[in-house]
Amino acid sequence: MAIATTNPVTGEVLERFDELTPEELEDKLARAAAAAASYRLTSVEERAGWLQHAAERLEKEIESVSRMITAEMGKTFRAAEEEVVKCVRGLRFYAAEAPALLRDLDSDAGRVGAKQTFVTYQPIGVVLAVMPWNLPLWQAMRFAAPALTAGNVGLLKHASNVPQCALYLEELFRDAGFPDDVFQTLLISSGRVEQVLRDPRVAAATLTGSEPAGRSVATIAGNEIKKVVLELGGSDPFIVMPSTNLERATDVAVKARCLNNGQSCINGKRFFVHQDIADAFIEMFVAKMGALVVGDPMDEGTDVGPLATESGRRDVESYVDDAVAKGATVLLGGERPEGPGWFYPPTVLTGITPEMRMYHEEVFGPVAQVWTVASLEEALREANGHPYGLGSNLWSEDEAEHELFVRDVQSGMAFINGNTTSYPEIPFGGVKRSGYGRELSDLGMREFMNAKTVWIG
Ligand code: NDP
Repeated sequence: MAIATTNPVTGEVLERFDELTPEELEDKLARAAAAAASYRLTSVEERAGWLQHAAERLEKEIESVSRMITAEMGKTFRAAEEEVVKCVRGLRFYAAEAPALLRDLDSDAGRVGAKQTFVTYQPIGVVLAVMPWNLPLWQAMRFAAPALTAGNVGLLKHASNVPQCALYLEELFRDAGFPDDVFQTLLISSGRVEQVLRDPRVAAATLTGSEPAGRSVATIAGNEIKKVVLELGGSDPFIVMPSTNLERATDVAVKARCLNNGQSCINGKRFFVHQDIADAFIEMFVAKMGALVVGDPMDEGTDVGPLATESGRRDVESYVDDAVAKGATVLLGGERPEGPGWFYPPTVLTGITPEMRMYHEEVFGPVAQVWTVASLEEALREANGHPYGLGSNLWSEDEAEHELFVRDVQSGMAFINGNTTSYPEIPFGGVKRSGYGRELSDLGMREFMNAKTVWIG
């Protein structure tokens, strides 16, 4: 894929970017290694100050950065603004909480014959972040804010369709006062990730993206015995039980499926609805999905913009066509509109069966699958049948159902009566083929640190 900004509304290439030459890449790796040697010695307070400056600058530039995001990947300007605001909040959280997040862990010295024992967390060095285009600022910030707070140095290989966002991030951290080369963007194709990851100056990697990309990075990292965190796909269940308020549940269901034009790993994608309320849910859900305005993402009235890439739309279409050919029922949408741009309408399907590809995979677009179930147990059985296990959602006022859901749902995150979202303050990540490791909070920060056991006699 060429490194370029392409307008998803028109398909027009707005700007092309040159890939790094081999010499330029070598120079950046050498600089990263040199930066890591000195940056690890900076104080937590200094790092917190630089994070704070980055937050201040980003806050002043919310509008222009949001425009850039919308131009590069087509999410609505409103959604882009929310993304940038979340980044500001993330930077402020890590700035404020850095000392607490990085505290040593004491243990009982007497039991091991020492005067003192503790675990101190030290930076691991240069970390490569391979990031996707769907939340082009937040996905990278989710890595960068904790990693830089921890004293690590970042190398960002961003998706090829969001080069402006990638370069902006480098500039943001540099201008905030972080020492030179502590955060660098590498404009390289995915084919060159292996070389960077195998380089001895790179200590670890994190990847958010598709399963094939994750498998490739994990294989190389495994071969090099390097730590890796993977945040891959999701096909999150959204379970609705009779005790819930259907008006609210359907409002959030629509948001859950169509946020980010339906291109988020934690979108609710499979809706399991109890049979007692299934007809009412479907009627309200289809009406609300059908009322969404699809159009230019810069227009204030638009709810759903185009998909980010032409190939992304082709993928979504092929999932729907495959399901329909095998007997799924289309309650809404299901056909691409005429005209330019990579638009795909909000779509609702029922009758999904294991022969259909979307039963086992992830549909990255505004396509909802609705299932009718007789009980929470049945919903959980179906939900857990999927190879992914990222987020999950339950709508119920019944505490016994809450307990059952938390105990049995196979996912890294379980949200009840609220939409699944990533918060800078709490851990984010999945199980099964959604990946491993955690991002955000102290757990995320400590993924890329040496937990050094100290014993003093
Ligand atoms: P990819 O996984 O291909 O891209 C994500 C990032 O990984 C990009 O930076 C990409 O670089 C890089 N990459 C791709 N292949 C490799 C590789 N073999 N080794 C190292 N890095 C690699 O996602 P797509 O954009 O192609 O989307 C495909 C599907 O992936 C979506 O339909 C969705 O199902 C899933 N996805 C999930 C996301 C999530 O948030 N979990 C985010 C994005 C996609 P480059 O752009 O240069 O190819």
